[in-house]
Amino acid sequence: METDQSSTSPSILLQDADGPGLPATEAGQLFRTIDWNTTPLGPQDAWPQSLRIALGVCLNSRFPMFVWWGPSLVNLYNDAYIPVLGKRHPTAFGRPARETWADIWDVVGPQAEQVMLEGRPTWNQDVLLVMERNGYPEDTYFTWSYSPIYDDDGSIGGLFCACQEETARVVAERERDRLIRQAQDAMQTLKTWFDQAPGFVALLKGPDFVFDMVNDAYLQLVGHRGIEGRPAFEALPDLRNQGYEELLQRVYVSGEPFIGRGLRLQVQESPGDDLRERYVDLIYQPVRNTDGAVTGIFAQGHDVTEQVLAVNALKEADQRKDEFLATLAHELRNPLAPIRQAVAVAKSPAADEARTAWALAVIDRQVSHMAVLLEDLLDVSRISRGRLHLRMQGVVLAEVVQAALEAVQPMIDAKGHHLAIALPEQPVRLVADPVRLAQVLSNLLSNAAKYTDAGGRITLEAHAGEGCLTLRVQDTGIGLSIDSQDEIFEMFSQVASALHRSEGGLGIGLALTKGIVELHGGSLRVHSEGLGHGSVFTVSLPLPAAEAVEAVEGGAGAAHPQPTTPADTPAPTQAPAASDGVEGAESAAEGTLVLVADDNADALDSLAALLELNGHRVVKARDGREALEIARRVRPRVAILDIGMPDLSGFEVARQIRASAWGATMPLVALTGWGQPEDARAALDAGFTHHLTKPVAPAVLGSLVRAVTAN
Ligand code: ADP
Repeated sequence: METDQSSTSPSILLQDADGPGLPATEAGQLFRTIDWNTTPLGPQDAWPQSLRIALGVCLNSRFPMFVWWGPSLVNLYNDAYIPVLGKRHPTAFGRPARETWADIWDVVGPQAEQVMLEGRPTWNQDVLLVMERNGYPEDTYFTWSYSPIYDDDGSIGGLFCACQEETARVVAERERDRLIRQAQDAMQTLKTWFDQAPGFVALLKGPDFVFDMVNDAYLQLVGHRGIEGRPAFEALPDLRNQGYEELLQRVYVSGEPFIGRGLRLQVQESPGDDLRERYVDLIYQPVRNTDGAVTGIFAQGHDVTEQVLAVNALKEADQRKDEFLATLAHELRNPLAPIRQAVAVAKSPAADEARTAWALAVIDRQVSHMAVLLEDLLDVSRISRGRLHLRMQGVVLAEVVQAALEAVQPMIDAKGHHLAIALPEQPVRLVADPVRLAQVLSNLLSNAAKYTDAGGRITLEAHAGEGCLTLRVQDTGIGLSIDSQDEIFEMFSQVASALHRSEGGLGIGLALTKGIVELHGGSLRVHSEGLGHGSVFTVSLPLPAAEAVEAVEGGAGAAHPQPTTPADTPAPTQAPAASDGVEGAESAAEGTLVLVADDNADALDSLAALLELNGHRVVKARDGREALEIARRVRPRVAILDIGMPDLSGFEVARQIRASAWGATMPLVALTGWGQPEDARAALDAGFTHHLTKPVAPAVLGSLVRAVTAN
């Protein structure tokens, strides 16, 4: 059967070892050297054709292959398969497979059995085989298939295997996957650090500063906009022209890091929003590649807006405190000046009974004024500590209004204001602390009088509505800018434009007023159309049901409001004549003509009286304009001027006198409650020759007048 075919079929090579079909390979050589008669395969001549063909394919292929033949699965393989065997080659050639592959027989044995017994081929891809081919256990990966080789009689004689070792590829792939995972993990860790960083972090790439990575805090700073992957100043155009672009560029070009503290940043919360002001501490750190070239910038920092604002608020409060202390000193000196002067007048041997009585009246009035100031101060402190307690009782509105008017009417009259009062026809009964409520109205009315130029209109209106009483105090005065309308209720706040008005107070009246109104469960609001357009202050108070008022009245009795003393005392009517009296004759400069100007009548009169007692002739002016006129007319030897006066301030009077031909060398003395070094400097700048702070000692004043008039 085999002879004829063997000359043309591949099986020839198995009969004739030197034939053209048997490759000159290592396996081919081996094949030739084996004495097949001693193997389970028996003499070659008896080999079935199918075995020969399979072996022919196997030995001639350069793809790893083997044939297992017969019941003992004798192993025959080609050169390409030798590396798979490792040290098992060449022993394995022609030996039973089970012997060679004992270490992996648990995997491949059942597969071989399946093929041999059932003829079903197998397929394995990248399967792990732990083998000891090189003397130590080794993880290897293979892709292979077993397929049956049918014997010439149709039974399964052996199996054919083409296989591929995948170990290098699988290990490489695994390593690659591991590296990718590691990189991803590192990235994730970095991202977590980014996100959990206590401040904001951003990684900017390239010369356009493209956002490569940003954390939540950064997104929060710039208002959660989609900025990742975009150039910084394209994504956040609002940050342009704020110096940050230049800073980044400098770091990018120079490679030098930048550290900044408390940098101001104006940023939108989202596109189209108004700019919000933030403050940041930040570091720009250059990022370099392996060659050392800068490739990006690592920006890291903190939003310190809260801290900066807190520090600013503290500075502001500190400044406000300083201003308040200066104002307090001014306000206390103002009444102290007439008191000191009046005391000097009363003590003078030249003072007659009438003058002494007048001096005492001045002292009395000014002491009351100081007492009110002190009381207001204490009230404000009580309110801010929650220690001001109201004495609530049933009261009738008209009585409260009456009490308030008693306190402020003289001041309103003194400034020639017209006051209109409109109360509801029906008596309005409410539950309140009558003294405090009267204080609210008198504060508002006296402010209206203070901050309105002479001859203005002041209105007090009351409306009783559903459960609510509205009281409006309106004036035609200097008004308030929109900005200052919020500020004025704060403690110690005075609007700059009102500061140098003679009547300026401590800046606590409205804080106190608001506090009292709120303690009553009400509210205080202000409205002004702007500077020069007058102001309206509106008090809203809860109106209890009639029964409630009665219940309170039954317990506490009717209201007995105490009038408060107005902050500014009206001009005394009994001031002694001053312009022509020359009394007492101790002075060398006897008969010297002195001009004194002050809008506080007591201060003016007592100073004049004092100078007269020292033998001077005195002319008095009640405001700046009058002072200038008189000065022009009478050309005094010296002028003593208050600074804060209505119409024309002392500064302006001094400036105009200095500018005139007749007043260029006139000694000018500023006598004022403002005693800070900068106040003295301002006076000298305005042309004053001297600055005295109230209350000045009479002897000092006397010697100053003598000195300036001596030559
Ligand atoms: P004071 O009058 O002692 O300065 P207030 O607390 O009573 O303090 O008022 C605070 C500031 O509010 C004043 O300095 C003034 O600038 C402003 N103000 C108060 N009432 C008026 C008013 N009727 N018209 C214009 N400005 C006012």
